[in-house]
Amino acid sequence: MNTKKNKEIVVIGGGLGGLAASIRMQAAGHSVTLLEKRHQLGGRAGVFERKGYVFDTGPTILTPPMVVDDLFQTAGKETSEYVQLEKVSPKYRLYFSDGSKMDYSGEEENISQIEKMSPKDVEGYKKFLKRVKPIYELGFEKFGSMPFESIFQMAKMGPAGLKHKAYRSVYGFVSSYVKDPRLRIAMSFNPLFIGGNPFTTTAIYTLITYIEEKHGVWWVKGGTHKLVEAMGQLINDLGGQYHLNSEVSQIHVTDKKRVKSVETIDGSVYDADIVISNADTAHTYMSLIDSKYRKKNKDKRYRKAKYSMSLFMTYFGVKKKYEDMVQHSIVFGPRYKDLIEDIFKKHIVPDDFSTYLHIPTRNDQSLAPPGCEAMYACTPVTNLEGEVNWEEKKDEFRDHILGTLDKSVLPGLLDNLEVAEVFTPADYEREFHSFRGSGFQLQPILLQSGSFRPHNRSKDVKGLYLVGAGTHPGAGVPSVIMSADITSQCIFEDIEKEKI
Ligand SMILES: Cc1cc2nc3c(=O)[nH]c(=O)nc-3n(C[C@H](O)[C@H](O)[C@H](O)COP(=O)(O)OP(=O)(O)OC[C@H]3O[C@@H](n4cnc5c(N)ncnc54)[C@H](O)[C@@H]3O)c2cc1C
Repeated sequence: MNTKKNKEIVVIGGGLGGLAASIRMQAAGHSVTLLEKRHQLGGRAGVFERKGYVFDTGPTILTPPMVVDDLFQTAGKETSEYVQLEKVSPKYRLYFSDGSKMDYSGEEENISQIEKMSPKDVEGYKKFLKRVKPIYELGFEKFGSMPFESIFQMAKMGPAGLKHKAYRSVYGFVSSYVKDPRLRIAMSFNPLFIGGNPFTTTAIYTLITYIEEKHGVWWVKGGTHKLVEAMGQLINDLGGQYHLNSEVSQIHVTDKKRVKSVETIDGSVYDADIVISNADTAHTYMSLIDSKYRKKNKDKRYRKAKYSMSLFMTYFGVKKKYEDMVQHSIVFGPRYKDLIEDIFKKHIVPDDFSTYLHIPTRNDQSLAPPGCEAMYACTPVTNLEGEVNWEEKKDEFRDHILGTLDKSVLPGLLDNLEVAEVFTPADYEREFHSFRGSGFQLQPILLQSGSFRPHNRSKDVKGLYLVGAGTHPGAGVPSVIMSADITSQCIFEDIEKEKI
């Protein structure tokens, strides 16, 4: 396939999806200019430093690493020339509200823990793993890397979907294999990492459990922002360019419904044969393109879609070491299903919460002053469909989270606190133009997956493509990097067929 006919490409947004797309396009011989609204690259994978504590703002768990390797190899490089990836063990430590805990690791270690926690579930756990292997092979290896654009493709998948019980929820599927309520939580919470409700996300997403089992859980040494820096460097090394503080206000379209140029809020205009938008999909269609160039029902569709929950982030630095903690923990509150219902359906902020606690200094002391720990608590909360005044609520909610952790897994936290900053759902909307302040864009339910998700190749405007969490295959670091591959395939095909 000839991908070498040089095109001027403008990429809107420098999240991991936009960065990966820029690398693929520049590596294929095109001229890429990436325009990022914020003061730094990375989007949700940002970074900041306070009083010597370094905080990754977003993703921390990377699996499978070969997705990153594949990207660097596309550009003729090895990942290790730019950044180090390291396996983490245990994958997560899970703290349950009854005081028990579990180190969720590989199959063997899990079995020996399940033998103690709930021996009658050992067989069910083994059967579950066997059962999710073909789901992984189908959903990740076969369909995860190809464009999904027609309803016929989905129809073709129908029999396989039925066989793999795609109509069931992750929680329902898991519950048919294990009975212990703690195990049901341990094996079903994963969709929350990509913005999904375990009680409504299609069982196909149990493949995440298998990815973690097969490939392990990894992190980027020094923090995810090191990967972002590496990708920015690679774009430059390949001859592409990026501009920070360059918010796009409009994608100009010709009367023949073809992209022409992109304008930033300071009035600069960048001509483009191809535009790839990594910005939130709803923002791209509803705010950047004149309504006369988009399909009539598009806005209605975006308003009616189901958005993922948001996150209340608390970044904190503590002048104390917690040697018995691990890098990734989940501290579960007393309720699971009802809490998730409050977040996703009732859109309220109840008193209880569950939180993902990240302590990178457990693996890399350079991220905090000596003798100190840098941490974040990532707490799922309602998106902005809930009428919460976060400006008023944020301090009280932060204190509630830190106070609860002080009383449970982090004794002495409040007495040793040096830094505590928050990022609320309102910040997600303001900083990233994230529709309804969602943390992960559209929820990964069956009717918003595959060809039902906004397509990587726009049907409204020629030369416009999408990349990132809002398009296929969805949210999460591997998925958005894979979406860049899929978007590139669409672009190469269109260049080859001289459609653009
Ligand atoms: C707190 C948190 C923790 C997470 N943890 C994990 C994890 O451990 N593992 C995992 O796999 N996934 C995780 N995720 C999910 C993962 O981080 C995201 O799905 C992924 O980073 C999204 O990347 P993206 O490229 O689609 O979008 P984004 O990161 O949102 O990037 C989009 C970019 O577009 C820019 N932009 C928007 N509008 C404009 C405009 N008009 N002009 C110019 N630029 C614009 C934004 O500023 C932003 O930089 C986490 C997410 C969050 C929020």
